[in-house]
Amino acid sequence: MSKTVLIVGGGLAGTIVANGLCRQLGNELRSGAVNITMLGTTETHMYQPGLLYIPFGRMREQELYRDQRRVLDRRINFFVDPAKHIDVEKNQVTTNGGRTFRYDYLVLATGSRIMPQNIPGMKEAGHWFYDIEGARKLRDALGSFQGGKIVVNVNAPHKCPVAPLEVTFMLYEHLKAKGLWDKTELTYTYPIGRLHALEPVAHWAKPEMDRLGIKYETFFNTESVDPASKTIKSMEGVELPFDLLITIPPHQGQQVIEDSGLGKGGWVPTNTKTLHRDGSTNVFVVGDTTNIPISKAGSTAHFEADVLIDNLSTLIQEGCMARDYDGKVFCFIETGLSSGTYVWFNYTTPPNPGPPSQMVHWFKLAYNRLYWLSARGLL
Ligand SMILES: Cc1cc2nc3c(=O)[nH]c(=O)nc-3n(C[C@H](O)[C@H](O)[C@H](O)COP(=O)(O)OP(=O)(O)OC[C@H]3O[C@@H](n4cnc5c(N)ncnc54)[C@H](O)[C@@H]3O)c2cc1C
Repeated sequence: MSKTVLIVGGGLAGTIVANGLCRQLGNELRSGAVNITMLGTTETHMYQPGLLYIPFGRMREQELYRDQRRVLDRRINFFVDPAKHIDVEKNQVTTNGGRTFRYDYLVLATGSRIMPQNIPGMKEAGHWFYDIEGARKLRDALGSFQGGKIVVNVNAPHKCPVAPLEVTFMLYEHLKAKGLWDKTELTYTYPIGRLHALEPVAHWAKPEMDRLGIKYETFFNTESVDPASKTIKSMEGVELPFDLLITIPPHQGQQVIEDSGLGKGGWVPTNTKTLHRDGSTNVFVVGDTTNIPISKAGSTAHFEADVLIDNLSTLIQEGCMARDYDGKVFCFIETGLSSGTYVWFNYTTPPNPGPPSQMVHWFKLAYNRLYWLSARGLL
């Protein structure tokens, strides 16, 4: 009987897993021994890291999207029909469209979502670049900004650990180029007692901000935003006025994960090495939706996906797992509009950011285009 691999979520992780399995399981797909099905929410696939560039006019919206069916291998059965209930006891998923899909192996790759509504006043008064509407709105706000107080406010948990630093440094150069820096006060807030969760990154960022004259507030856990007085208040009792608030809203996993009883806040308890859902032998979790205590990033999702492709293929072909995930993450960091650095780390090796260079910035820009090859499993 044909074995079914069901992938819930057609973003970065789900797509790489699906295409990678097609590459490894060619014979089984040809003979009908295996079939692969994916459930998604839209016909389009978005390259989310490109959102960072939209407010600065450095990427066009159309560059962020591709038709999902063209990104996917043709052997994948793709349904735009979101999962409504995931039943890991009965090995089946029911959808908004009323379908029921049974599986032998399930891959949960539903990602995360921003929740500005979780902080009073944030949705009304905040700007962000973590979705397309927000990025457009921020682009317009920056277009009419003539100087004043800007607060870059970081809330946890959030995906892309370095995007808040990137937007801060890009903002500095953007305002400098427009002749507005002398009329601006830029303050970066972070919830813990340093500028970044990764200690070496925090140590690197502090002198950079000091050098550029960017102010910061640590131990700033956002309590509320007052749209009328344009102030943002922390639980620690600090109140900052702003003319423009750029926030990284707190994130949660998807409702379907919570509703199916698979994890509080939408985060699925996951084995850090095998990527099994805790308590399951045929359910795997990749990307933002895991509860693994490492950065929620596209590169994390990609490295996890590579491990899962090997493990699922060998499970199907040989009945055993191939290898463990070692916690690898790689992030480019834009340090302005024309320079960048990068960090890589894993469970045992901490990050070590190097001096910024134009070359690394160009690599990041090149990767923004190469992503589509990577999603297809060609890179
Ligand atoms: C502004 C920004 C900048 C970033 N920059 C970087 C960067 O420079 N480097 C980096 O490594 N990462 C970066 N990231 C993070 C990266 O994009 C994410 O970590 C990555 O997309 C996670 O992959 P994923 O597959 O887990 O989730 P996603 O790519 O979000 O995919 C989840 C998919 O699941 C689908 N889904 C949700 N609910 C259901 C349901 N009920 N049924 C079916 N499908 C469902 C969603 O529609 C979505 O397609 C950035 C993100 C943002 C927003």
